[in-house]
Amino acid sequence: MRYNEPSPLETRIVSQRFDLPNPTSIDTYLANDGYVAVKKAFEMTPEQIIEELKTSALRGRGGAGFPAGMKWSFVPRNTGKASYIICNSDESEPATCKDRLLMENDPHQLFEGMLIAGWTIRANKGYIFVRGEYRYLIEILERAIAEAYDRGYLGKNILGSGWDFDLYTHTGAGAYECGEETALLESLEGKRGVPRLKPPFPAVAGAFQAPTILNNCETFSAVPWILRNGGQAFADLGTPKNGGTRLVCISGHVNRPGVYEMKMGYNILALINDVAGGMRNGKKLKAVIPGGSSSPVLRADECDIPYDFDSLAKAKSMAGSGGLVVLDEDTDMVAVALRTIKFYAHESCGWCIPCREGTTWLKKILTRFHEGGGRPEDIDLIAELADNMLGRTFCALGDAAAMPTTGFITKFRNEFEEYLKKSHVARVPQLALV
Ligand code: SF4
Repeated sequence: MRYNEPSPLETRIVSQRFDLPNPTSIDTYLANDGYVAVKKAFEMTPEQIIEELKTSALRGRGGAGFPAGMKWSFVPRNTGKASYIICNSDESEPATCKDRLLMENDPHQLFEGMLIAGWTIRANKGYIFVRGEYRYLIEILERAIAEAYDRGYLGKNILGSGWDFDLYTHTGAGAYECGEETALLESLEGKRGVPRLKPPFPAVAGAFQAPTILNNCETFSAVPWILRNGGQAFADLGTPKNGGTRLVCISGHVNRPGVYEMKMGYNILALINDVAGGMRNGKKLKAVIPGGSSSPVLRADECDIPYDFDSLAKAKSMAGSGGLVVLDEDTDMVAVALRTIKFYAHESCGWCIPCREGTTWLKKILTRFHEGGGRPEDIDLIAELADNMLGRTFCALGDAAAMPTTGFITKFRNEFEEYLKKSHVARVPQLALV
């Protein structure tokens, strides 16, 4: 099911079947362009498929925004070894809830994207790694997988191509860290979900140390449309180097929160005012967290920009996983900073010191600050701690914790200073202890 009313301003590609009756059924899928693209792929060479993806300017929808065609091109083919297709559906970034909808409403579209990837590198096995909290989706996915086997879209000699492909589901145990691709692979292999040293990257040594295409659920789900309609048609929907559409999860202080499929490059203010129905209770916009909780906050006056990877990078933030949080004028930004760091301190896997210690100390200092025990020097101390984590951790979770913290201090320092006026410690500095 879809949890919000669609908007007439959407461009429906990956969500085009969400509102059909019985959307998860293979018959619904087949009646609506389903499995057309994989048949087309069988007539194409791997190079042609990869070229089409490169033309489409499809970028990974999991967070990093890496070009999918380029990623596929790195995977060695014909090595004589097994190779794998892995779907990252460990959607755990706070404010992001769109892969869930893709699996809940159109599982065959995802399978078809993975099949095309499998055919491209002649992999024979695929895994969908599903977030532990989404365990209820396994039943939907397994039912759809059984249908695909029954109709010859999975299993031996798919559609007479002479190629075999098996697909499995696998659940994580609820760790945010397993959204990091190498930690996901460790978890998939039955080990503790901590990241691996890179390089080698998963393209070369991924699942079971074999060549692997590992993409996000939305990324795979876009592939069938691209092959049916051509890479250029997809690219034309977006902005340069940011092809197509993306599912934007709008939450926070708006009238119509929800998941909307928008052309890449849609203006952020228009997303808030036109698509999500404007600010709740007529309040003023104070800030936006544009791409999930790890993306640095934007002030209201910085939001009149396109929503795509490059425009947000230029604004020193990120489009990330597509979770856009809208905050109104009454929002306490110190509280938001604390809430954010609590999450990352909880989810730090503890493997490396800058992240394990850094997130813990940030949480400790911000908690004390929020509770009225802040010292004037704490503001710079928080900024310095975050700065010392940035780029010095084993995986991106350390950056994911540091970047938003720096953003809150830089953009809303005045609110931190306001807190000091209420602080009992700031008035008696010698009592201050970290
Ligand atoms: Fe673990 Fe280090 Fe990654 Fe944090 S940055 S999640 S401690 S590996």
